Amino acid sequence: MKNLSIYIHIPFCVRKCLYCDFLSGPACDGEMESYVNLLLREIEKQSIFYGDHRVVSIFLGGGTPSLLPARETERILWQVRNVFSLAEDVEITIECNPGTVTAEKLKNYITYGIDRLSIGLQSTDDGELARIGRIHNYRDFLETYEMARKAGFGNINIDLMAGLPGQGIASYRKTLERVVALSPEHISAYSLILEEGTPLYVNQKSYTFPDEDEDREMYELTGTVLGQAGFHRYEISNYAREGRECRHNKVYWRRGDYVGFGLGASSMIRNVRWKNPDMPSDYAVCLEKPETDGQREAAYSLMRQTAQGIGTKAECAAHIAETETDPAIRMKDEGVWNRAFAEMLRQTGRCGVQSLTVQEQMEEFMFLGLRMMEGVDLGEFRRYFGKSVDEVYGKQIGSFVEQGLLERDDRRIWLTPRGIDVSNTVFAAFLL
Ligand code: SF4
Repeated sequence: MKNLSIYIHIPFCVRKCLYCDFLSGPACDGEMESYVNLLLREIEKQSIFYGDHRVVSIFLGGGTPSLLPARETERILWQVRNVFSLAEDVEITIECNPGTVTAEKLKNYITYGIDRLSIGLQSTDDGELARIGRIHNYRDFLETYEMARKAGFGNINIDLMAGLPGQGIASYRKTLERVVALSPEHISAYSLILEEGTPLYVNQKSYTFPDEDEDREMYELTGTVLGQAGFHRYEISNYAREGRECRHNKVYWRRGDYVGFGLGASSMIRNVRWKNPDMPSDYAVCLEKPETDGQREAAYSLMRQTAQGIGTKAECAAHIAETETDPAIRMKDEGVWNRAFAEMLRQTGRCGVQSLTVQEQMEEFMFLGLRMMEGVDLGEFRRYFGKSVDEVYGKQIGSFVEQGLLERDDRRIWLTPRGIDVSNTVFAAFLL
């Protein structure tokens, strides 16, 4: 069976943060219930395509998924368990904002099988939090964190941000030190990006942002403080205790199969990428198509037939597993399968449906893989594409190794600390 990860988008927030351009906004309980009804329908309708997959991670993201009443979270996870086959050690994460959970809700999460909590703190400085429009202060966060530990969460991520308006090196260091003292299992530390159209972008002249040198110092400070506290960096912006890397996010960087449910959610299955509509009305409409079970079965049967006329789901899965070992057969099969699958997705109102070419797959393999500190696996590249990484990227790799931006041995290639600093330039060079 192939591994599958599931992302579920919950587009509700108490109010918009000033830097946020995610698909989210306020809603009442009734709207949340209606939205969850649509989600349940989508999960059920989509599940027929993944009978040959086993779910290894589920991520409830947003938005603020912890705003959902507990019974709605329970309904979603019940539906996933009902129609998908889950791995015994499936990782289930929910994103949570301070002040949006009670002790009871957190205990409920544990009984639903949620074993990882991701808390959006961003900063421990109340002035910085207020300037970016967060709904909480540091005390709210501490209460949520303590409640989560008491409820039994043994795997907690804390999200931080550098480059905030009015943030200095000293206050950022304080944030890092305070967070480290709490001993979470995982820390994500991203830099603020001013997204066009957000209030922070529009009013940027009214704020003082850290300059380029300070930005860089904060970035280095993150690695130093977290490294000294025993966190290891496993991705450009993610740090974890040993064995506590986020399994779900690693699937994105390793180009595993994942399916997204909900408004605007993205998916990639066997090198077909697509997105759900951003507008609630379009999302609801796309769940109506294809309307009947007959049409749905016909679409699925078309895909099954393309796998060399193989009839049953089990035979189809066995065939796919067999072809995985031969890149030439896999690519040929996948090409036919992808066309049928992509067509079905278009017919059902999905957006940006794209069947990746082999070249695009190689590009993604390199620039997503290099985000991880362990880098790209040369043997995996050969197994997957039927040629060595040097046949395709020998020139770029040679030049970056010479410049000290990449390092390699006979198994892997990875970014050096200097390479991480200019990672976007390195990634761009892998676009063929
Ligand atoms: S909590 Fe997250 S998703 Fe919601 S508005 Fe703030 S940044 Fe956006």
